[in-house]
Amino acid sequence: MAGEPQADCLFCKIVAKEVPATVVSESETTLAFRDINPQAPTHVLVIPKAHYADAAALAAAEPQIAGDVLREAGEVAVGEGLGETGYRIVFNTGSGAGQTVFHAHAHVLGGRGLNWPPG
Ligand code: 5GP
Ligand code: ZN
Repeated sequence: MAGEPQADCLFCKIVAKEVPATVVSESETTLAFRDINPQAPTHVLVIPKAHYADAAALAAAEPQIAGDVLREAGEVAVGEGLGETGYRIVFNTGSGAGQTVFHAHAHVLGGRGLNWPPG
């Protein structure tokens, strides 16, 4: 069923605490944890606890939870001290755009200069 945990999904395993992660914050519907291979001084992933393959699928099925992910991303950024300097929220979507984990996730990046347009 849509949104149900997937046995072969790394981020579902992190939600289930079967794989450890450095958790930054958590809500009823979302989990924020540090990226294992950070690309900036702050690099946090914010995911819905429910399984959807990407951000668009999440928004189509559960718009409220998509909003929860965005709110959590902003709160994480402020909590990491990025509220003044700015930060970037990225949803890689599809393998051609660099998506490697097919459980929707926002990257929250900051703490260094961020080029535009991104590579
Ligand atoms: P994507 O490439 O799909 O946009 O992002 C997936 C992210 O998950 C990558 O930045 C990668 O470093 C991160 N990642 C992959 N495996 C793990 C893991 O086991 N733990 C954590 N915390 N992050 C992971
Ligand atoms: Zn999943």
